[in-house]
Amino acid sequence: MSMPLPRSDMEAGIRIFERCNELAHLSEDTDALTRVYLSQQHQQANQRVGTWMRDAGMQVWQDAVGNICGRYEGMKPNAPALLLGSHLDTVRNAGKYDGMLGVITAIELVSRFHQQNKRFPFAIEVVGFGDEEGVRFGVTLLGSRGLTGSWESHWLDKRDNQGISLAQALRDFGLAADQIDQAKRKSSDLIGYLELHIEQGPLLESNDLALGVVTAINGAKRLNFSFKGVAGHAGTVPMSLRQDALVGASELILAVESIAQAFEVVATVGKIECLPGAVNVIPSDISFSLDIRAPDNQQRDAALWEITKAAKEITERRNLTLSYDCFYNSDATPCSVVLQQKLTKAVMAVQGRSLSLASGAGHDAIAMASLCDVGMLFVRCEGGISHNPLEAIQIEDINLALNVLEHTLYSLSEA
Ligand SMILES: [Zn+2]
Repeated sequence: MSMPLPRSDMEAGIRIFERCNELAHLSEDTDALTRVYLSQQHQQANQRVGTWMRDAGMQVWQDAVGNICGRYEGMKPNAPALLLGSHLDTVRNAGKYDGMLGVITAIELVSRFHQQNKRFPFAIEVVGFGDEEGVRFGVTLLGSRGLTGSWESHWLDKRDNQGISLAQALRDFGLAADQIDQAKRKSSDLIGYLELHIEQGPLLESNDLALGVVTAINGAKRLNFSFKGVAGHAGTVPMSLRQDALVGASELILAVESIAQAFEVVATVGKIECLPGAVNVIPSDISFSLDIRAPDNQQRDAALWEITKAAKEITERRNLTLSYDCFYNSDATPCSVVLQQKLTKAVMAVQGRSLSLASGAGHDAIAMASLCDVGMLFVRCEGGISHNPLEAIQIEDINLALNVLEHTLYSLSEA
């Protein structure tokens, strides 16, 4: 099967760009974009996207958790599908491309194949997940977790800020809380999941590249650290005799920065509490948070081990007591090596060089990885800005991304 010629026409990119802008009008706020799960605007977005899917030659349905789905058959009916997509919900006061770009570009790709009457050995499905951000019910990835069958029934009792339960919201949307499991797909139905998403960070732009290939989605751990010293009079206790918990904590916070750099992870102390908190009292009790993330669990845990070692050394030397506990742990999600290679080859063909990068933000691919191989393509966004109405992308970059997806599908059909 021969590769398609690279295209330079801007028409497809402009259409994708315009559709992103069109969806941005479906918002609960008049002056900002906010579209949450199972809202009226979600319903409208599903209708609009469903129409675009049908126009692109797909058979369309809404699944039992409210994801909008489209299927373009392969050479033989009922073949397993390559799933393309992203999410259609947004944060509050969102940008227009986070999520939507991946769904709309996938539809454009299918439309291109449909016009050429091109079929693959696999079917192509496109999904617009109804919830990734978790804004309404405080649980993220509800759409993809419905599709992968990792939905937990106690979530149905979660309430939004109006007091409406998730179970009620499903009913109001025309769905049934006791039929969520009908959204579940079998792993034998899918050959993989490919997601195009804006980078939401500055790496591609700083490398002067439109596109890059994701290696993994970072796993995160969150801990609380407490340093206990002895409160004392700020005027009478000599420096050499102090057990100042804040000075000890400060030393550790600087160590966190240098250890994170040495281990190539990202670590943040974002919250600190100091007691007794008086201008003339030596601090006795400090607690602070640590958020540490890496594309690889071992890499993250090695850095964390070094941080706790430094904490022990500092507290011993300063005669403080130390306690810490981990209150949040999510594993890293590695992207499939095969999909990374195929995407990288396609990016090289379209863009001349490629960049591999980890994703610092979470994506639907995290849930999808429990069902099938996942791959992600990142497109640069201006200044790395996201979750913000200033989110911006270039039409030329969208065209390149579309071409990369096209190449990747051809190369998957050769495997
Ligand atoms: Zn997103």
